[in-house]
Amino acid sequence: MLSYLEARACVIEQTGKAARKRASLAKNLSDALGDVLAQDIRNDRDYPPFDRSTRDGYAVRAAEAAAGAQLRCVGEIKAGDTVTQPLPAGACIQIMTGAAVPPGADAVVMIEFTERAGNIVAFQRAASAWQNVVKKGSEARAGELALKSGVRLGFAELAQAAQVGAARVQCHQRPRVAILSTGDEVVSIGETPGPFHIRNSNSVSLAAQARLAGGEPMPLGNALDRADDLGAKIELGLKEDILVLSGGVSMGKYDLVESVLKSLGAEFYFDAVAIRPGKPAVFGRCRDTLVFGLPGNPVSTMITFQLFVIPAIDILGGAPPRQLPLLEASLVKALHEKPGLTHFLPARFEWTGISPEVKPLHWQGSGDIAALTQANCFLVVPADRSDIPAGEKISVLPRLDVI
Ligand code: AMP
Ligand code: MG
Repeated sequence: MLSYLEARACVIEQTGKAARKRASLAKNLSDALGDVLAQDIRNDRDYPPFDRSTRDGYAVRAAEAAAGAQLRCVGEIKAGDTVTQPLPAGACIQIMTGAAVPPGADAVVMIEFTERAGNIVAFQRAASAWQNVVKKGSEARAGELALKSGVRLGFAELAQAAQVGAARVQCHQRPRVAILSTGDEVVSIGETPGPFHIRNSNSVSLAAQARLAGGEPMPLGNALDRADDLGAKIELGLKEDILVLSGGVSMGKYDLVESVLKSLGAEFYFDAVAIRPGKPAVFGRCRDTLVFGLPGNPVSTMITFQLFVIPAIDILGGAPPRQLPLLEASLVKALHEKPGLTHFLPARFEWTGISPEVKPLHWQGSGDIAALTQANCFLVVPADRSDIPAGEKISVLPRLDVI
């Protein structure tokens, strides 16, 4: 059985083979948060575009602004002013943050270190060359790459595109992720469940996770545990880039997902992973669609999506697969788990000082959605450990939407 890291590597390898060149579309920058750039964007000019003052103060020639020196103030420059006149010798000019340093000046002295009487400014400490000035082109040069194709647009990337004037950007089409839950016990969330029915929360969490990860969720509702209904709904899912199923992958008599997929021509790359919860997760390909069969218990569905489906969304979406954001935290409470599988336990990590502490949460197993709402991470208990004492450093996997 594959470890979760091997299973992820398998997803990355097989998705890489399946990925084709995908369509892209032009978007307004304001609509592109979380999209993957499908073009290179270059700097339209130098950044900063002029020698920029980073302080409110006086523009000077550093050599003239010695400690105790007095210089005549000959004007004022504020942000946005057109600056062409050079600084005369033996003078200074009052300057604001973000304004252009005039030709001839090579430093800005903070107003806090000066004293002014009329037009005469006294300097309390010696200026050094280029202090409080960011020189033209020092952040980036005109024509250089500002953003590379394949980058996912977060707020900093959007700001970078905005800075260089890319008001519309060419983005990769988001991979379409069909979501199909299975189970005779599952009713849609608008319905009143019978006493032995449950509402379809998996379709909701899966769609949310798919969207957060950069996919376009395509909800297909629920299939009954019958080959004909399952087959017909899987056929719909096979029109999309990725099909994610929940439930029906365990060993029960009515767990039909694998056999129905096989009858439709699927090949499987794995059909179990050495984790708990989530062990029966399957991954394969059916026609041109990558197929994930995730176990139906809600926490199993969530963790297996985060571990295995996200890299496929990344790659099909034109981005490199993101790394698993594992962190280390010190365990607050001793743990005892059965060895053999890597356990993912709902937990909370908190920063009391510089390094985080993590506390496992009480839970009733992989059906316990309420426990997950209290959790901001999964504690990762290695397969070869059964007892972990309090105080030990342990890996945690933050929940997708937490950091
Ligand atoms: P299964 O993997 O099909 O054996 O399902 C395991 C358990 O997960 C079921 O007994 C249900 O309690 C739960 N479950 C299955 N599908 C869903 C769903 N769509 N939403 C919420 N819980 C589900
Ligand atoms: Mg089921």
